[in-house]
Amino acid sequence: MTAKLSAPRKKAGSKPDDKKLDRVVAQALQARDKRMQSYREQALKVLPWICGRCAREFALENLHELTVHHKDHDHDNNPADGSNWELLCRYCHDNEHSREIDALAADTAATGSSTDKATYKPFANLRDMLAAKKK
Ligand SMILES: [Zn+2]
Ligand SMILES: [Zn+2]
Repeated sequence: MTAKLSAPRKKAGSKPDDKKLDRVVAQALQARDKRMQSYREQALKVLPWICGRCAREFALENLHELTVHHKDHDHDNNPADGSNWELLCRYCHDNEHSREIDALAADTAATGSSTDKATYKPFANLRDMLAAKKK
């Protein structure tokens, strides 16, 4: 049995066609927009126009402030019965997501040493630095 030597092949003409790439990206974005549009429309059809957090009611005039939140945070999980959607006003939606970030931050803070902050003296070397500058 002879092992084939796989010499590094030259990638001739494999440079991505920028225009083609642009088109593919544009199509993907369009598809995403379409999907987003459609699940928002669907959500607005099956759910009452009320923020699930602050219970603010919405009408056509301010409907753009009502956003669709995915309960499992999977934007591709869009069951037609609306079980993965929650309508939230922009503020509550922001809150909903920043809470996760807060939770994440709390997690990392908990694992790090909390004494760092207390002992950190940003200007401890300032005198030395100034002295060095004067020379
Ligand atoms: Zn709200
Ligand atoms: Zn969300």
